[in-house]
Amino acid sequence: MENSGNIERRAQFISKTLADIYPNVTIPLQYTSPFSLLVAVILSAQCTDERVNKVTPPLFSLAPDAAAMARLAPETIEKMIHSCGLSHSKARFIQGCARVISERYGGIVPSTSGELENLPGVGHKTASVMISQCFNGYAFPVDTHIRRLANRWRLADSQNVSIVEKNLKTIFPAAEWRDLHIRMIKFGREYCPARNHSADSCPICKVLLKIDVN
Ligand code: SF4
Repeated sequence: MENSGNIERRAQFISKTLADIYPNVTIPLQYTSPFSLLVAVILSAQCTDERVNKVTPPLFSLAPDAAAMARLAPETIEKMIHSCGLSHSKARFIQGCARVISERYGGIVPSTSGELENLPGVGHKTASVMISQCFNGYAFPVDTHIRRLANRWRLADSQNVSIVEKNLKTIFPAAEWRDLHIRMIKFGREYCPARNHSADSCPICKVLLKIDVN
C-alpha cells in the first residue's frame, strides 16, 4: 500500500498545477437551462463539444423546453442531430427524457441522482455532470480522460470508473470536485492523450516523479 503522504502531496501538486493552467473553469458545452445542458450532455457521447454547440441552437429554437421537445417526433430530432453521431438512439433518449420531465416533473429537470439516472439514456456520469453544474451538488463525473489520468498519476489503480470515482472523492476535498473534473478533462485532451504522451514536455509527470523520490 502506498504511503498516504505521497498520494496527498501528489494530489495537492496536481490540483494546484491544473488550477494554474486553467484558472477559468467553464464547461465547454453551451447551455441556458438544466434541460438544455441535459440534452447537450446526451449529445456529447462520442462527439466533440464543438459539434454539439453547433447542433443545439437550432434544436432549441424549435423546442426550447421539455414540453416542446416532447411534442417533436424522434425522427425530427434525429435529423437535426445527425452530425453528432448515434443520432437514432440519442434522438429517442432526448425525446424520452423530455416526455418524462414534462409529464412526471412538470417540466423541471429533477435534481437527485436517483431521479436523473431513471431518465431515458441518463447514466451515472451524466447525472453527476447535472448535479455538479446545475444543482450545486458534490459530484465527480469520471469519463475516459479522468480514468486515464487518475491511473497515470497513481491516484487510482483500476479501469472501473466507479472505483476511480470513489478513489478521487476520497483523495480530493468535495469543494474541489466540480472544477477539478473539468480541469482534468481539459488537461487530458490537451496534454495527456491516450497515445504518444511526452513526459519530457509535460508540466505534471516530470514533477510527480520528484515528489515520489523525495
Ligand atoms: S507525462 Fe504528462 S502526458 Fe504523460 S501521463 Fe504524465 S501527465 Fe499525462
